[in-house]
Parts: sequence; structure tokens; C-alpha cells
Amino acid sequence: MKTENIKAYGTEAADKPLHSMNINRRELQHHDVEIEILYCGICHSDLHQIKNDFGGATFPIVPGHEMVGKVTRVGEHVKNFKTGDLAAIGCIVDSCGKCEYCGDGFEQFCDEGVTFSFNSPDKYLGGVTYGGFSETYVCNEAYVLHVPEKLDLASAAPLLCAGITVYSPLKHWKAGPGKMVGILGIGGLGHLAIKIARAMGAHVVVFTTSPLKVEDAKRLGADEAVLSTDKEQMKKYARKMNLILDTVSAKHDVNTYLHLLKPDGSVVLVGLPPEPLEVNAFSVVSGRHSFSGSNIGGIAETQEMLNFCAGHNITADIELINIQQVNEAFVRLEKGDVHYRFVIDMASLRNPQ
Ligand code: NAP
Ligand code: ZN
Repeated sequence: MKTENIKAYGTEAADKPLHSMNINRRELQHHDVEIEILYCGICHSDLHQIKNDFGGATFPIVPGHEMVGKVTRVGEHVKNFKTGDLAAIGCIVDSCGKCEYCGDGFEQFCDEGVTFSFNSPDKYLGGVTYGGFSETYVCNEAYVLHVPEKLDLASAAPLLCAGITVYSPLKHWKAGPGKMVGILGIGGLGHLAIKIARAMGAHVVVFTTSPLKVEDAKRLGADEAVLSTDKEQMKKYARKMNLILDTVSAKHDVNTYLHLLKPDGSVVLVGLPPEPLEVNAFSVVSGRHSFSGSNIGGIAETQEMLNFCAGHNITADIELINIQQVNEAFVRLEKGDVHYRFVIDMASLRNPQ
């Protein structure tokens, strides 16, 4: 039996605010876990989607893909979770499970297309999946993560997207001792990238457009911080960086950062500016530079990241809000005015003040 009339927050159109609505969750399948969502982070990807920045969004949209909570029900064949366990769900809630990429733990590259936690075709109920701005979520246990007890639940929520999105490329491009790693854009992703790159042993240099964040960067763990609008400061970093992780959400000049790379260095884009970015030939040809990208991370790697963060006491710096403040939060996120991730206390959805 599907669960009907779950409370949620969503929007019917790109120019409309989010408001309270009801949604359905599918009947619990044998391998499914139901979680009561306690906290849900707000990612810039939620904002891109509700603004339909990339086109093709299906409304109504219930955003949210950084969920932590407690298991409330399990299907009869569930092995790894029981009622009452802490659990988390991130961006991926289904994939074919059979292709070479799923087999290798790269569900995000599934041949048949991955199902995202919101605004992806819903195989069970039709329409699209509805995300974590809701009371509960139901998905196969293969896509549910264990939350290490040690982590504060509210500030762990952003690890489910922001955390894995920066952990995966930092690991893949070998951020570590002896490496000069630049973090570009200090929002939800960027501030976690500083903490994770530092914990991996890299020398971390922040590039930010915000003077206040230059001051805050060292508190977050950066070794150096540069105001990227200051040409004199930027000059000092020419040919210094092994890797630059670019988390910027809007159009910007990547050539500036390609020129900061040592030979064989890489700028890795994880930000999703809706407009194309121009790369000058000499920015990559000189110095055999790479301009690459990375998309979230697989389920096993997400669990590895959660365990890594627990081991290094890493969680997000958050502003905890009630769901009723979500539209105001999106306005502030658009302006870059968040230190450094909004997280919704989902109790405010269940029991509005
Ligand atoms: P966020 O909190 O809004 O942070 C983005 C940061 O980018 C801002 O804080 C700002 O940093 C910088 N920025 C924004 N506009 C800029 C501009 N016009 N010029 C230069 N810098 C600018 O966003 P987020 O949640 O971290 O997400 C960042 C991006 O990653 C978004 O596009 C999001 O959709 C994407 N994303 C991608 C993946 C993936 O798998 N690839 C996963 C999650 C999110 P400063 O103030 O420091 O300059
Ligand atoms: Zn996200």
C-alpha cells in the first residue's frame, strides 16, 4: 500500500515560491527502507532545478537530496538496516545495478541512467521522484547510507551531496601531502572541500570573490586565502597549483585558474554554471593542463566519505532553519549569503509553529 498525503514543500513553477503540499510514497518493496527525515540540506542544485536553469525540469518539484533521519520501516528482505537505525539518503536512489559502472561502484554513470532523489522519472508511481523536503523517503537499501554515530546529524546532512561531490574528485586527483590544492568558490561545496582536502594532507589555497571569506578561510582549515578579484594577489599563484577544484555556480573565467596550474595540473569543475564556459587553447596546451569535471560519487564511496569525515571530525558549518523559511533561504543562497550551508530542521514540517 502506498503511503499517501505525506507532508512536503515544493513548487509548481520556476517563478513560484515553495509552499506546503502533499505527496505519495511508494508501497514498501521487499528491499526498501523507509526513513523519517530529520534534517535536509539545501544545495545550489536544488536552486538551479527550481529555477529550471538547465531547462527540462518537471513540475511540481519537491527538492532536497541531503537527507538524514531514522529508519521507521524495513521491507522483509532488508539486511543492513533495522527500525530505529540512523540512515541517510543522498542524490542517488536507484540505478540498473547490472552495468559495468554500477558494478564498479559508479552508479552516477549508470548505462541506463541513474535515478536521482528528486525530479527523475519515478518507476513506481509515475511522474517524477520527490526529494527530501518531506516527512519520509522510501528507497532500496542499496542506496541508503549508514550515518556514523559520532557525527552531529544536522551538520552531517550536507555531506550527502556537498561532501561526496568534493571528496570524490579530491581523492581521484590525489589531493594529499606535497600537493598544492586550490578551492574555488566557498559555499556549501567549497567550505567542505577546504576541510576534506586539508584532512587528506594537501596544502590548501582558497580563491574567493568575498573579502569576508578570505578572513574566515583559515578558520575553516585553509593554509592560504586569495581574493580572486585582486590581480596582484592572483599573480603570485601563477604556475603554483597541482589541482584546483572549481565549485562556482555561475559563469566565470576558467582561463584565469588554468594559468595558475603547474604543468600537468588540472582544474576540475564540479559547479554547474548554466551557461557554457570558454576555454582558450593556450590555457590547456601550454603546460599540458587538463580541464575536467566530476559528478557526485557512487554509493560505496559516499559511505567511505562519511566514515572519513567521522574519523576527521568533519561536518558542515550550517545555518539551521525551519521549512517555513525556505524561500528566504533560497534568496540568500542565490546571493552567496550563507555560512556555509542551510539545513532544514524537518520537525518544523511535521509540527509547524
Ligand atoms: P553555493 O553554496 O551557492 O556556493 C557557490 C559559490 O560560488 C559561492 O559561495 C561563491 O563563492 C561562488 N560564486 C557564486 N557566483 C559566482 C560568480 N558569479 N563568480 C564567481 N564566484 C561565484 O553553491 P553549492 O551548493 O556549493 O554548489 C556549487 C555548485 O556546484 C552549484 O552550481 C551546484 O549546482 C553544483 N553542484 C554540482 C554537483 C556535482 O555533482 N557536480 C553536486 C552538487 C552541487 P565565493 O563567495 O567564495 O566567491
Ligand atoms: Zn547537491
